[in-house]
Amino acid sequence: YLELYINTITGADMKEYYLLVFRDRTEEEQADQMKNEFVSIVSHELRTPLASILGFVEILLHREVKPEKSRKYMETIHREANRLSNLISDFLDLQRMESGKQNYTRVPFDLRPIVHDVARQWDGKQEHQIQIMLPEDPCFVDADTDRITQVMHNLISNAIKYSPGQPQIDVRIVDGGTDWIAEVQDYGLGIPDEAKDKMFGKFYRVDNSDRRQIGGTGLGLAIVREIVRDLGGDVYFDSRLGEGSTFAVRLPKFNISQLDNKVVIIED
Ligand code: ADP
Repeated sequence: YLELYINTITGADMKEYYLLVFRDRTEEEQADQMKNEFVSIVSHELRTPLASILGFVEILLHREVKPEKSRKYMETIHREANRLSNLISDFLDLQRMESGKQNYTRVPFDLRPIVHDVARQWDGKQEHQIQIMLPEDPCFVDADTDRITQVMHNLISNAIKYSPGQPQIDVRIVDGGTDWIAEVQDYGLGIPDEAKDKMFGKFYRVDNSDRRQIGGTGLGLAIVREIVRDLGGDVYFDSRLGEGSTFAVRLPKFNISQLDNKVVIIED
């Protein structure tokens, strides 16, 4: 995208000259475009639940509503308000991470209890059974326990959300040589090929008819990738439409020698 200015100037020889100035506006233009897209997505994402909350509150305030109906309306208001609140906190999280302002508290820890605890929290929710398979020995990584909990939470809740009627979820940690790999596998809707490149994009949601009713912000996976990459790892997935998906988080193994003799480990 080039901008062209044309001016006439008078030279020292008193002749008139045309001055042509080309300015490359490609980057500015792209930045503007991204900003516009972003504002329109955010305002749409915020307006939709707000419109529904306002609509139902208005009905409850100004009309006679039977108790069963009013309960239903209140449930919708509650759900939409929760959605709004999740959207805002996800959005702020992501913003903080992208601007490099997220502070990570890095400590060496065993990945197993974190993965186990998050999986147990979701086990039995909405008829899903989670099978957990963990190595016998500790899986030390140098990361942030709260953020890794958030990562596992996002992946397991997605596995549940996007596998209606397919109750089995497998969660495991496998040895990836220099890394530990935490995997979450479901046997649900899967991911269409045309969506595969965009899955970690901000606000991206697969728009297939099989999942339009399922709520979400499209920020969960963007947050997962941001966290995992900030901590020196990565996330990827393998999926077939209609058969299920496996999401894998790879984190570098923590090596005792990294401690540099600063810490003494006492066996009990
Ligand atoms: P959200 O779930 O809030 O829409 P995410 O960023 O977590 O946002 O996921 C983006 C999209 O990727 C979802 O809308 C969903 O269609 C798809 N997706 C994520 N996880 C899975 C999964 N385990 N199985 C099938 N589709 C998934």
